[in-house]
Amino acid sequence: MSRRQGTPQPADLVLTVTPGTSAPEWCPACKAYTRLAGDLLLLEPGGVTTVGRYAWCQVCDDPRFPKENPRV
Ligand SMILES: [Zn+2]
Repeated sequence: MSRRQGTPQPADLVLTVTPGTSAPEWCPACKAYTRLAGDLLLLEPGGVTTVGRYAWCQVCDDPRFPKENPRV
């Protein structure tokens, strides 16, 4: 077993992904501004990086309002 050298372990490195400020967006399915969209931010010790976007519709993505009604 040989010890690996020259590669310091980032013991204190904490990466956190958090949603940024969200804003209402147009949902083509609901034809209304029922979507919330925003940036996904990666919080690093050195700063904040945008890693993507998220979107969530309060109607389409709500399990209380299923898209398909089996009784139809
Ligand atoms: Zn929707």
